[in-house]
This record gives sequence, C-alpha cells and structure tokens, in this order.
Amino acid sequence: MRIPGVWQWLPGIVTARLQELVNWGRANSLWYLLFGLACCAIEMMAAGGTRTDLDRIGSVFRASPRQADLMIVSGTVTEKMAPVVKTLYDQMAEPKFVVSMGACATNGGPYYQGYNVVDGVDKIIPVDVYVAGCPPRPEALVHAILKLQDKVRRIGVAHEA
Ligand code: SF4
Repeated sequence: MRIPGVWQWLPGIVTARLQELVNWGRANSLWYLLFGLACCAIEMMAAGGTRTDLDRIGSVFRASPRQADLMIVSGTVTEKMAPVVKTLYDQMAEPKFVVSMGACATNGGPYYQGYNVVDGVDKIIPVDVYVAGCPPRPEALVHAILKLQDKVRRIGVAHEA
C-alpha cells in the first residue's frame, strides 16, 4: 500500500556511505561547551541569542564537557586558566573540535607576550577554526561554525579532484 503524501515521490531505497551519514549527523549537531574566558564570551552568548540564533544550525550549548563536542575558546587564555581549559578539553568525548574565537585566544591579542597570558590556545589544545577580530561579531562566529561543519563533513571521505 502506498503511503499518501511526500513519501510517494521518494524511492523505496536510498543509498549512502555510512561515513557520510555519520559526518552529516555530527556536522549538524555541534554542541558547544558553555564557558567564557573574557569579553569575547559576550559575543559568543550573543551568537546564541535571537538575532543570529546558533540553534538553527544545530549548535546548542551544554553545561557539561561530557555532553559537548565543540569548545569555543572565547577570550584571553591566562596561564592560570590554561590547565582548566586543557582539563575541560580532555573531558570532552571524541570526536571533538575547537574554535579559537578572537585575537586573544588565537595569539594573545592585545596581551601578546604578556607575562600571564598564553600566546595562543593552540599551544595547549589543537584548534580547527580561527576567528579573527577583537572582538569578532556574532556573525563571524556563526561563519566559523559553518566552516567547521564543512570540515566535519569531509572527515574520512575522499573527494575527487
Ligand atoms: S579578543 Fe578583544 S574582545 Fe576578545 S577577549 Fe581579547 S580583548 Fe576581549
């Protein structure tokens, strides 16, 4: 019996590579860990707000690193906070991804070579996407997550040139 509605226009069998299906699911559900380090965190919170609304691209915040697969490093990484950032990263489940948001997280920004500032969070954890600016606008963070989605979709999938 045919089910009425849109289903009658779809084929009975759809083929896809498992890796691409998994990547599709992961790319569209990048849940980010809710923590902020400095002023960039305000822009991150704004990105989750009604104007840019990260939820619509599948990114919602989680208050536990064990339920998050995206770390947005939003702000200055001080020497004091660096071990905490590393611990939170280690507690996240694989596969996990990192966005370095703003000049401070990327290379220390205005505090470059300051005695108490790590000159780039990539000195302690691997970074997938960097966002320029001081501070970057929420739209820039949305763009970075869309770029990360592209990257996640390509994991383990060979593309023809
Ligand atoms: S990059 Fe600018 S806005 Fe962001 S944490 Fe550093 S000083 Fe603040």
